[in-house]
Amino acid sequence: MITQIKGLHHVTSMAADAQENNAFFTRLLGLRRVKKTVNFDAPDVYHLYYGDETGSAGTIMTYFPFPHIVKGRPGSGEVSETAFSVPEGSLGYWRDRLTLAGVGGLEEVEQFGEKRLRFLGPDGDGFALVETSGDPRAPYARGPVPAETGIHGFRGVTMRLRDGAATAELLKFMGYEEVAREGTMTRLAIRDGNGADLVDLEVLPDAAPARQGAGSVHHVAFAVEDRAAQLAVRKALVDAGAHVTPVIDRDYFWAIYFRTPGGVLFEIATNEPGFARDEDVAHLGEALKIPAQHAHLRERIEQLLVPITD
Ligand code: ZN
Repeated sequence: MITQIKGLHHVTSMAADAQENNAFFTRLLGLRRVKKTVNFDAPDVYHLYYGDETGSAGTIMTYFPFPHIVKGRPGSGEVSETAFSVPEGSLGYWRDRLTLAGVGGLEEVEQFGEKRLRFLGPDGDGFALVETSGDPRAPYARGPVPAETGIHGFRGVTMRLRDGAATAELLKFMGYEEVAREGTMTRLAIRDGNGADLVDLEVLPDAAPARQGAGSVHHVAFAVEDRAAQLAVRKALVDAGAHVTPVIDRDYFWAIYFRTPGGVLFEIATNEPGFARDEDVAHLGEALKIPAQHAHLRERIEQLLVPITD
């Protein structure tokens, strides 16, 4: 069994509008934009990263805003909801804040004994805020949301699947344990994780397959400390029959990817080297960073990208 995974690292989704996306995560949710760079495979598209002060693993929501991309259709075989951890007693603040901003899909539910405020992102992305007691992760304090109500980081993700058995088995191999069941949901958790410890499986045998587009999660990444841990995880996955990519340098972490039996794309990402690799923590996310292999295209990229106003 794999023991090196420490929870989620990041969640990467697609959006239709970079400006709107940036405003939603920084001005409304109060996260910090910790990196403004471009898609490695399509350098005329932004890659935006939002998280805590330094972009700690387990706090990072990332987006590819593809202008004019059509909205995704929710369904099976995808991450259907990404949940953020907020302090106990803060959901009233959030309900008022999101209502005032005209955010869609607001719904308060109780799941696994936790209060959960569901809401939709700008492209219909499924999100929730979950009150968590004793989450030691410091919310970003210099944004518009006071630290006492701010987002600690991810709590976990929900995957909607037609059949959860193979994915549950894979997650157990990755170090997760089943901790609860409720209705169509099975909750798995990692022990001694980074706080972003939960994966909920919602099994709906009759759900139509999702169609990816704006508002869809592209992949979910799990955290390992360093490259040695990543190689050990890679070997274990390959030995178990998974088709895993070679290690890819993503500038701020190293990544490997594999498609899971339920259809969701998983990544394993390293905590090293982190977002302070190429700019000071005080100025994270301010300048447009272009990966070295595309550096010669900077002038053209800057002309193509619509500037983001903070
Ligand atoms: Zn990723």
